[in-house]
Amino acid sequence: MPSIERIAEARHAAPASAVAEDPAGIAALLLQHRNVVALTGAGCSAGSGIPDYRDADGNWKHARPVLYQDFIGDPEVRRRYWARSALGWPRFAAALPNPAHQALAGLERRGMLSGIITQNVDRLHQRAGSEAVLDLHGRLDMVRCLGCEARLPRAEWQAELGRENPGWASAEAQLAPDGDAVPAAPDYASFRVPDCQLCHGILKPDVVFYGEAVPAPVTAAARAACDAAGAVLVVGSSLMVYSGFRLVREAAAAGKPVAAINLGRTRADGLFTRHWREDCASALPALLGALDR
Ligand SMILES: [Zn+2]
Repeated sequence: MPSIERIAEARHAAPASAVAEDPAGIAALLLQHRNVVALTGAGCSAGSGIPDYRDADGNWKHARPVLYQDFIGDPEVRRRYWARSALGWPRFAAALPNPAHQALAGLERRGMLSGIITQNVDRLHQRAGSEAVLDLHGRLDMVRCLGCEARLPRAEWQAELGRENPGWASAEAQLAPDGDAVPAAPDYASFRVPDCQLCHGILKPDVVFYGEAVPAPVTAAARAACDAAGAVLVVGSSLMVYSGFRLVREAAAAGKPVAAINLGRTRADGLFTRHWREDCASALPALLGALDR
């Protein structure tokens, strides 16, 4: 057995309120089951410079995201969405995997993780080398036509937005969650959003918006991954979004151990059998190092 007590020593600042610190328990869970599924969220990508929607208490810290119904129903909402997204995309696309992603890929290679279900849309798990990854909320690097279901890479769409709106992408802006950005001088009225070239339909990022249902086959695949796993490890998610919370609730109801590595409060705190309140980018490499000893 590796010296799992060492993981606790690797911690930096323990919050005074932490009562259920259990890094050794999480290491033991991985060693015992060897087919743990990880459910990851924004906290996992925070170390890559991608902002999170929520603070440590699970409250909104930015403007609320665009709702699906508003995007579909209102051309002005789409214009604003794409104008801001055109500003945010270059930096979002340049983000690199951080030690949290790399450690999760390492756990998979060592046969301890059976897979990752991620609520993130940045594809950083895949870029870190994780293979069994389910993008629960889709992927921001693709764009989909709601009329004909054609898909195109976001990079191509970005170039098209650039051609339609010369000079826009170099405007000053502050990065917000999900590739959104807040321009210093918001002037959306003149921003031009092309239709689908094939059917003149509405183009939408290939992600699940707030207020939109996760596609049934994706939900089914996530359930199957949890059913097949011996335990669930929540990493960097407040679980405030129902699709993630529901998976944890179902796993707990099925009697599976559910552990969490997350700094702040979550919607499922009462369901965790083990909890380590630590930053993912510190905790996961320490966990991996201890398991390797
Ligand atoms: Zn189309």
